Amino acid sequence: MSRCYDVIVVGAGPAGLTAGACLAEMGVKALVLDEQHQPGGQIYRRVETASPATLKVMGPDYDRGLELAERFHKSGVEYEGGAIVWNVTADGSIAYSRQGKSQEIQGRYIIIATGAMERPFPLPGWTLPGVMGAGAANNLAKEAGLVPAGEVVLAGSGPLLLLEASILLKKGVNITAILETTEKIPSAQTFKYLPAAIRRTDFLLKGLNMLREIKSSGVVYHKGVGEIKAQGDSRLESVEAMVDGKTQTFPADLLLLHFGVIPNTHIFRLAGCAMRWHQEQRYWYPQTDDWGRTNCERIFAAGDGSGVSGALAAEYKGELCALEAARCLGIIPDYERDSLAKPLQEAINHDRWPRPFIDAMYAPKLDGSHFADDTVLCRCENIMVGDVRRAVSEGVREVNEMKIVTRCGMGPCQGRMCGPAVAEVIAAELRQSPERVGLLNIRPPLKPVPLEEVAEMELDEASQVQADLFKNMKK
Ligand SMILES: Cc1cc2nc3c(=O)[nH]c(=O)nc-3n(C[C@H](O)[C@H](O)[C@H](O)COP(=O)(O)OP(=O)(O)OC[C@H]3O[C@@H](n4cnc5c(N)ncnc54)[C@H](O)[C@@H]3O)c2cc1C
Repeated sequence: MSRCYDVIVVGAGPAGLTAGACLAEMGVKALVLDEQHQPGGQIYRRVETASPATLKVMGPDYDRGLELAERFHKSGVEYEGGAIVWNVTADGSIAYSRQGKSQEIQGRYIIIATGAMERPFPLPGWTLPGVMGAGAANNLAKEAGLVPAGEVVLAGSGPLLLLEASILLKKGVNITAILETTEKIPSAQTFKYLPAAIRRTDFLLKGLNMLREIKSSGVVYHKGVGEIKAQGDSRLESVEAMVDGKTQTFPADLLLLHFGVIPNTHIFRLAGCAMRWHQEQRYWYPQTDDWGRTNCERIFAAGDGSGVSGALAAEYKGELCALEAARCLGIIPDYERDSLAKPLQEAINHDRWPRPFIDAMYAPKLDGSHFADDTVLCRCENIMVGDVRRAVSEGVREVNEMKIVTRCGMGPCQGRMCGPAVAEVIAAELRQSPERVGLLNIRPPLKPVPLEEVAEMELDEASQVQADLFKNMKK
């Protein structure tokens, strides 16, 4: 018999930690699973064991993770770290792998708080050793205290690119150049959102301070950069880019790329949740109501996985999901849910003020027609941009058809790295929105898991009957 919980929370970042703590505080039988070995998620990764030096460099935003972790542990919620969730179904069943064993458990409700990921952006040479995501470098610093050696170039767009640059500068890393693709002069549309953003002066000041630190460091810093290429034979040697209409080359041992973050939607798609397209940010996110409930009655979406809005909003969204789940379980009545939710909803509104400004300022400049034919698109199956274009010219109109024809997205990452760009290339060829060319279908296992583990899983009675039938057929 599989274990049963009132609520299972997947992800122990700000959203999952708050949801889990809030549920346990109300007396709900809840379990929080996370593939990381410590609570914290992306932003507060390893915060509980961070050295004083790391806490100092990461700044006060990182400290917030300590408060969340303290509330989480104090709540007494059941937690399993190192738990990789590889299947979720709309009827509330979850399969996960932990310590070399896979098991299936059941939740009356599931809160998915699996966060966001860096937007993969295929540019020439992006598969060379020495090229990685800026967020990934940030993770390695938090996870293992790693600091890049040699000459480092940061390229792309988005607040996390600048955050990583300012952190590396504090650590004395040798940055050759920061190459921002963001326009030198923001669009009129961006300025339209400035008055609302000014209502969160604290937020704007944080950004301005970061820029001041970068500028006063004297590091080469260009905006409005285009045509970025990672160059080198067997590993990265330099970065080429179009700066002020001229091609420039920057020596580099490490190129940190960042083109914003997008919700981690594979798990929602696997469970069959309906998805929505965000035209400005060019990403998919699960359709939810105001409480985070998806169209699948038992499944909630919390945090950046439900739409990117930052760590504080993730906390509030996690707690809103928890309150609604508790109401559905009959633990709290409607009026109590509403009164507990009110300050959270106000906090979300307050936190939201600068978001349209940031979104417009860092709107992804994605045009699939600009990707070069000889750039690798699908890293798992080694499919080039040109292969995808050719398939479109031969009649392919949709991403799943593309997967069948080219194997693009069929590798172990299940299209995490190529899916968004494949859609952009098809859409550009057909001169339509990526929304029209669909989303890759996701099948279990969500993440690679040894078949041996799956074969050894204990099954519930109904599944065992089916498995026995199969065994008998083989005889
Ligand atoms: C690489 C990266 C680095 C970032 N660094 C910063 C930063 O330094 N500062 C900042 O302000 N913002 C940062 N962000 C943005 C920040 O992550 C979010 O605003 C915030 O963490 C969102 O919180 P969340 O709870 O929604 O998700 P997250 O914090 O991302 O937590 C999601 C959790 O789900 C777990 N998970 C995902 N899939 C599975 C699965 N299948 N099975 C089990 N567990 C799973 C993950 O291990 C993770 O712990 C970063 C984003 C990324 C992608």
